Amino acid sequence: MLAADWSRVAEECRRAETSGGDWLHLDIMDGHFVDNLSFGPQFVSIVRPCTQLFLDVHLMITNPDHFFPRFVKAGAENITVHVEADHDVSRTLAGIREAGCRCGLALNPDTAFEEVLPYLDQIDLLLVMTVRPGFGGQAFMEEETMPKVASARAERERRGLGYHIEVDGGIDQRTAPIATRHGANVLVAGTSLFGASDMAAAIGGMRKG
Ligand code: ZN
Repeated sequence: MLAADWSRVAEECRRAETSGGDWLHLDIMDGHFVDNLSFGPQFVSIVRPCTQLFLDVHLMITNPDHFFPRFVKAGAENITVHVEADHDVSRTLAGIREAGCRCGLALNPDTAFEEVLPYLDQIDLLLVMTVRPGFGGQAFMEEETMPKVASARAERERRGLGYHIEVDGGIDQRTAPIATRHGANVLVAGTSLFGASDMAAAIGGMRKG
């Protein structure tokens, strides 16, 4: 939703839904964890009644343990927190689940895959950032991030786990098949979809790849 036209939120939600999107991904930025600000729980609660789509909330914030309950209340169905943020990761993940929400864990391009290893059995989703977070419209960092996607898939198979592998940043019709080939099954795309004149064709092109 970062790349949507915020003056027409309800229409943009419908456009994503009728174009064949599966989930809506909402990027929350606090000006501390990343050098940008986006929107908060109130925006999530505005989006909630506009769509049937699954609401995937990505907290790029320093204190996710303090803020996640507000996003649960606003209607989030999955909440993803960063392993690099300032919190007890296990406790936050458990708290999100206890609140009745699915939980995800994200890692930045400069963070080693080993950092998330202790938490893989606690999550519904692993988000491998494919750009440095903070701004939409950046280029996909293939060399730095695809080995992590492959490791995430290998570790999931080895341990018999079931988490989704999501990629976020620089995803379009060219990069989507690269990510899926390495093991990603959830693709977050902003600019390449909301900026497309025909979103359904853009989504179809990514699925085909
Ligand atoms: Zn995101």
